Amino acid sequence: MQNSQSQSLTGLKGVGPSVQQKLANLGIHCIADLLFHLPLRYQDRTRTAALGSLRNGDEITVRGEVQLTEIKHGRRRMLLSRISDGTGFLTLRFFHFSAQQQASLARGAHVECFGEVRAAGGALEMVHPEYRLVENDAGPVKKEARLTPVYPATEGLRQLKLRALINMVLAEPTLFAAQLAEYLPAEILQQEKMPTLQAAIQYVHYPPVDADVHKLQAGEHPMQQRLAFEELLAHQVSLRQLRQQQQKKAASAMRVTGRLKQTLEKNLPFELTAAQQRVVNEIKQDLNQPHPMQRLVQGDVGSGKTIVAAMAALQAVEAGFQVAVMAPTELLAEQHRINFTQWLSALDVSVFWLSGKTKGTTRKDTLAAMNDGSAQVIVGTQALFQEGVEFRQLGLVIIDEQHRFGVHQRLSLRNKGATDDMHGESYPHQLVMTATPIPRTLAQTAYADLEVSIIDELPPGRSPVETVVISEQRRDEVVARTHKACQGGRQAYWVCPLVEESEKLQCQAAQETAEALQMALPDLRIGLVHGRLKTAEKAKAMEVFKAGKIDLLVATTVIEVGVDVPNATLMIIDNAERLGLSQLHQLRGRVGRGTQQSNCVLLYGAALSKTARARLAILRESNDGFVVAQRDLEIRGPGELLGTRQTGLVNLRIADFQRDQALIPRIARCADILLKEHPASVAPLMRRWLGDGLQYGKV
Ligand code: ADP
Ligand code: MG
Repeated sequence: MQNSQSQSLTGLKGVGPSVQQKLANLGIHCIADLLFHLPLRYQDRTRTAALGSLRNGDEITVRGEVQLTEIKHGRRRMLLSRISDGTGFLTLRFFHFSAQQQASLARGAHVECFGEVRAAGGALEMVHPEYRLVENDAGPVKKEARLTPVYPATEGLRQLKLRALINMVLAEPTLFAAQLAEYLPAEILQQEKMPTLQAAIQYVHYPPVDADVHKLQAGEHPMQQRLAFEELLAHQVSLRQLRQQQQKKAASAMRVTGRLKQTLEKNLPFELTAAQQRVVNEIKQDLNQPHPMQRLVQGDVGSGKTIVAAMAALQAVEAGFQVAVMAPTELLAEQHRINFTQWLSALDVSVFWLSGKTKGTTRKDTLAAMNDGSAQVIVGTQALFQEGVEFRQLGLVIIDEQHRFGVHQRLSLRNKGATDDMHGESYPHQLVMTATPIPRTLAQTAYADLEVSIIDELPPGRSPVETVVISEQRRDEVVARTHKACQGGRQAYWVCPLVEESEKLQCQAAQETAEALQMALPDLRIGLVHGRLKTAEKAKAMEVFKAGKIDLLVATTVIEVGVDVPNATLMIIDNAERLGLSQLHQLRGRVGRGTQQSNCVLLYGAALSKTARARLAILRESNDGFVVAQRDLEIRGPGELLGTRQTGLVNLRIADFQRDQALIPRIARCADILLKEHPASVAPLMRRWLGDGLQYGKV
């Protein structure tokens, strides 16, 4: 977080250069940062208990008289002090201690301790409790008036110091108020029945004793929700602004007769579905505009996104522009190349290929063709946008399986394709496609900078994939079933997902499975694809499979997306319980692509918990990617769906997409109000919550 206007920490008592450095390690650079350094959890120090009533796991205050203190040499040297209060005993265990500490805990001393009770070797103990010596006849245990916050701390900057610093600011009303300007207009606070920022911050640092601890621990207290709301709003507003800025940029309007598109449509062996037609039309309208399109096409696996992309490409080509088609893996890109080549070469449109592995003269020739404009459509991986790759006139960038690219990448791609000529700066249009449907609430937040089209219809004649969930113990039956399917002329996939983190071991597992299956089914032609094969080998294996020369293809999850072999009607997934629902749905989408009834078998390892079983049951019950994604979101959170690492948005401090879903529709409404009626609050609000992240508004 960055609060450039906020006061410096050095003004606080007790903050010298060394503490300042440690605070910086926690991301705290100014006083406002300190106030937004929120507790991880809370301790209830208001409760005390007799030693005889303690239970494992209690976090509590106790008192007792020291019976014995001694140094023990176990694996480590430690100080053990045994205390008693007449009702029971407790051991205090210290690994770090001074001679003075040892002396003060002499037999007969009275101590008051706070810590977590643990059962160890049949007795109860506290490891490194906070403690102080008290008089024998000390009055009642001094009760804290509030719940005690526990902060993220760091080496050399512990709870007590953090609490003291934060309390210092809380105790100075003017200083406190100066850090926390209210950016939410009164009408929003009123409409949303929300406390002010100051009230919320005050409360979360110092909740009263009667606060709802469960809600606080879960982050669901209205005071915390107030903060989450503001954070999500800041993100929403920044993406909206981004979209508005985009819409002001220039791009080439591609008004054409549609001659090429019509010819392609005539040549196709099928008719576009109504949903495909609608989306093709939405794209056409966008491309007609003199501003860069930013459109996301969502469609379930098998809904036919590729042809929609090809239609878009033809509009750009007909208008005289180049088109880049990018996929996240070689395998997927390769498949697009095959499709595009097949569809477009009949129209005399040139299709080129560029991947990281394109080398030597081929690479040189390809780069030259991109540069002089003779390459009209260029399909490839991210290599398309590496240094040294220049387009002559890039008009449209198509990104498939977009969830693997974050907003930053999207924008940097767009910039790489920008041209600056006598007509000024011009940006290519961008079309992104995802096969992992994002539930609406999430799309509203994560993709607020994009227009969204949905292909909500599958091509006709597809019968839904029938899914069963079977224990690994019945593997033999599944093998027999595979045998039967293949003997009947059908083809099958056998997927071995990540069991080990390492790709190497994963590939090894696939290899072993392939060998075992070949042993069990000697008359089947079994192939193998995994991530460690060379691209050419992978492509070869896929090609042979597609040509029907292999019956059973054993694979790692490299075949997760995009691969298309209509004659494959059986999919077996090993260790299905280890994959996310959306990913399983993706995999399952490899079958059910022809008119034949298709089946998917989810094999699970020995003991499956009740929730895991319920999870897999969702796939048995629904074939709709949107439904599956929604459930996956509920179960695993958005990180998995969006591909956490690359999505700048998931970098939330307080809010949590999963927990705070209910806020999202409200946030969308408030973003409208804020942008329209309180534009002056927008910039400071974004600065408070996004700090450096703001860059992506300017990329
Ligand atoms: P995805 O949306 O998963 O990328 P694809 O574009 O790979 O789906 O399409 C899946 C299969 O459906 C391909 O074989 C494609 O040729 C075929 N297809 C696409 N549109 C139609 C349609 N309207 N009618 C029949 N088949 C279609
Ligand atoms: Mg696809």
